[in-house]
Amino acid sequence: MATSHFSTQPYPLRVPNLIGGKFVESKSLTFIDVINPATQEVVSQVPLTTNEEFKAAVAAAKKAYPSWRNTPITKRQRVMLKFQELIRRDMDKLALNVTTEQGKTLKDAQGDVFRGLEVVEHACGMATLQMGEYVSNVSHGIDTFSIREPLGVCAGICPFNFPAMIPLWMFPVAVTCGNTFILKPSEKDPGASMLLAELAMEAGLPEGVLNIVHGAHDTVNAICDHDDIKAISFVGSNVAGMHIYARATAKGKRVQSNMGAKNHAVVMPDASVDATINALIAAGFGAAGQRCMALSTVVFVGGSKPWESITVERAKALKVNAGTEPDADLGPVISIQAKERIHRLIQSGFESGARLLLDGRSIVVPGYESGNFIGPTILADVSSNMECYKEEIFGPVLLLMEADSLEEAINIVNGNKYFVNNYPASFAFVKLLLISYSDFCNRYGNGATIFTRSGVAARKFQTEIEAGQVGINVPIPVPLPFFSFTGNKASFAGDLNFYGKAGVNFYTQIKTVTQNWKDSDSEDKINMAMPTS
Ligand code: NAD
Repeated sequence: MATSHFSTQPYPLRVPNLIGGKFVESKSLTFIDVINPATQEVVSQVPLTTNEEFKAAVAAAKKAYPSWRNTPITKRQRVMLKFQELIRRDMDKLALNVTTEQGKTLKDAQGDVFRGLEVVEHACGMATLQMGEYVSNVSHGIDTFSIREPLGVCAGICPFNFPAMIPLWMFPVAVTCGNTFILKPSEKDPGASMLLAELAMEAGLPEGVLNIVHGAHDTVNAICDHDDIKAISFVGSNVAGMHIYARATAKGKRVQSNMGAKNHAVVMPDASVDATINALIAAGFGAAGQRCMALSTVVFVGGSKPWESITVERAKALKVNAGTEPDADLGPVISIQAKERIHRLIQSGFESGARLLLDGRSIVVPGYESGNFIGPTILADVSSNMECYKEEIFGPVLLLMEADSLEEAINIVNGNKYFVNNYPASFAFVKLLLISYSDFCNRYGNGATIFTRSGVAARKFQTEIEAGQVGINVPIPVPLPFFSFTGNKASFAGDLNFYGKAGVNFYTQIKTVTQNWKDSDSEDKINMAMPTS
């Protein structure tokens, strides 16, 4: 295993920025603690990068661009081939870092790294993905071809919940297309990005092609405003995502913004009981519900009663523990604030009339008494006007609803409103934007799944459901990298999705060339009319 600059620093480790190929400690006076959510121990400290440091990172990316874009694509691909090999080599180290900073179980952390690794593997075939088109003889002796060229300096802004996978959705695709990159990891768990950057450089990524700046809102705003940044990839909440989308597109940048979710499962009475309950439990409580594709709401067609006791029994059997413990099924939530918010939403559901079938709020995990643990929680008889339904809970809470028919269930899912009431006054502008945006496409549309044995019901669901990622007897239908991650409605802003062909299109622009090579110029005369063939 290579020596890690990042992990040999004294404790508490001050996470460096990566600027022009060098790991440099920030001169900032303000650092944020990165906290292990199972223990409250300070793992490291992340800087609020200064404006000078941010500008230096963009300048380094801009300087590296001309030579990198002219590097043969076969060489750029070979860097990715080596990179994927190094990620495999250091899989355990990466996963341990993810578990330490984010809290998910080690096995789940391996999945986090692996799903990102698959994007790197896909980027190894960039030459084919980036191919242009050619038509010969569009007119006499004239040919036209289009080429996909990189944009320049691109940037990525990441959420906390997939510290390895989401950075890997971004920079491998961008740089293999020939761009250079500025990455801003989540300030809650920057470690995996740092380890990945070390590996990318070990794989041969030249200085300045990938740069990392840490920080929070000011760094994000600086990314939105900087004239030399041409495109921004964002993944996170709707408040941040719509703010970034508005601010950066107003500056003429391309933005792809993957945002929040309220993913539903519709369970038909004919669904296989065992397989369906197991899928609901795994997708509802895995990663402590902190996945954008977590199943947070189940609509039982024909009523939930026959399903309740078995769902509760299996949820109760899950082991809540620190992610490093081998028996853990789910770990802690990211922060004390997140835990308090989730507690509040459970309480509000109960007070609004939902039945609390399982309450995980009072759980204590021996040896980890100060961790942010919440046990699996199930609320039944939930209705669409309850706050717990309208908000994305992002915790281990499963809401049960009922419908008399598939039509009614589809209407519930499609009617799920995006909720904008809880933002502070300082976000008045964003809130206004969110309201108008949500008027336009006013519901979350990330994922939805049906469990049934009926092809007719499945086909109706697939056709009528308003969600970008549809599962049929599949609980978390996150597409593999040869497709794209296709959230829609309020779960996505932009028009070119992450990874797959759309991801390559996002990080490239088309140039169309028309050429005229003739062996004689004898026919040439002035033609003042619009050329036609
Ligand atoms: P977040 O929006 O709080 O943070 C994401 C990033 O935005 C961070 O880097 C943060 O520094 C920055 N940020 C946050 N608020 C900001 C603001 N007001 N101005 C400027 N920058 C700001 O999101 P999170 O809590 O880290 O992640 C959880 C959210 O991400 C959930 O809503 C989840 O559904 C969503 N998510 C979506 C997808 C997807 O693909 N659709 C994937 C993962 C997570």
